[in-house]
Amino acid sequence: MIGPDMRRRRLLRPVVDGLVALAAVLYLTAAMADGDDAPAVAASPTAAAPSAAATPVSSAAAPVSPERAVEERVQRTLDAQSRALLAGDLETYLKPVHSSLREQFTLRFGSLRALGVAAWTARVAERPRAEGNDRWSMIVEIRYCLAAADCAPTSLVLNSTWSVGALPPVIVEFERTVLPWDLTPLQAVSGRRVIVAGPAETAGRLPFFRTAADRAADIADRYARWDPAPKRYVVFVAAPEQWATWWNGTTETIDAYAEGSKGIVVKAAESQDDGLVNLLTHEFAHVLSLGDNGADGRDWWLSEGFAEYVADRDGSWTKNRLPRVRRFVGDGRWDGTVTLAAPPKGTTAADRIARYGIALLTVTCLAGHFGEDKLVAFFTAVIRNRSDPPAASPGTLGADWPGVATACAAEVRSRAA
Ligand SMILES: [Zn+2]
Repeated sequence: MIGPDMRRRRLLRPVVDGLVALAAVLYLTAAMADGDDAPAVAASPTAAAPSAAATPVSSAAAPVSPERAVEERVQRTLDAQSRALLAGDLETYLKPVHSSLREQFTLRFGSLRALGVAAWTARVAERPRAEGNDRWSMIVEIRYCLAAADCAPTSLVLNSTWSVGALPPVIVEFERTVLPWDLTPLQAVSGRRVIVAGPAETAGRLPFFRTAADRAADIADRYARWDPAPKRYVVFVAAPEQWATWWNGTTETIDAYAEGSKGIVVKAAESQDDGLVNLLTHEFAHVLSLGDNGADGRDWWLSEGFAEYVADRDGSWTKNRLPRVRRFVGDGRWDGTVTLAAPPKGTTAADRIARYGIALLTVTCLAGHFGEDKLVAFFTAVIRNRSDPPAASPGTLGADWPGVATACAAEVRSRAA
């Protein structure tokens, strides 16, 4: 069964703490009180003018706030940890990690190394918040590249808590994402245009997926019309356990999905007979056309139809979809609307394929009548710039939408006849 889908989930929930300012002031007050203990002040016999006497101490202590001092110490720790990850130095990488998190960080290190992590920066992205007992929470922004250091980096924004006392900073909490390399020990193989990774039980199948993914990348690359194609497409191969857990596993009846620059996921059980190259091409087309902004569920027919269209450059995908479309239309279950919404929950596998097929035929109709350049302009306006088809159509296709929709509906009916 083929039924790719595009889903967007938020990984993270940056926290804004209303008490930050108050906590910071309290901490600052305490720190300045510590500063008053400095012997230089008490020892000065010429303290007739208090402001002058205070000058040497306060000029040394005032420039760096406690938050800033914590931020700088944590940043230095993060920098050292990032360098260790890139150098393959697990011992240094684990140095600032609390013992309770070592297993998790070791897994992350191993999987990222397997994926050929080539760039990794971690930055304190927000002023640290005092949590008491030398604990500070802060948002860390990670930017990373796999396989090629000069990629367009993927960004993650994660919550963390640190113990920052007299000793070097220690990570005591670090938000775990739902990304494969954060949840699963991965093995990986590299192709010309792809990295393919999966858990140990899929290792024997990874070269098979690599061959198909390289072919798919060659087809999809021709549709890198918005940004340059990724240096490498990242493909995660999921056994049933990973299918249920990566990106929270909310996948139901589909066989693959795309998560922008973070990668695509495909079931390990997929075979060439299932149209694997088409399936991978479809997902790569999502990566190219949607980027990391994802689809918001509006105009499902166009975001899916475009991915289907890219995967159909040899016509094999239309052939795959047509029998289901014929049954769907022949049974009178299509009302003639080309702007289909996502299949409702509970839609059978056959009907899902029929709906993907209608989306494919509709986008094929647009490309056939107006050419790919205008199709891309229309896609940009509707999917990326959130315009409605009627508003976007005259300026991009050069035609009013009702006429276009009617003509393409007629074409779908005739091809399904
Ligand atoms: Zn899709």
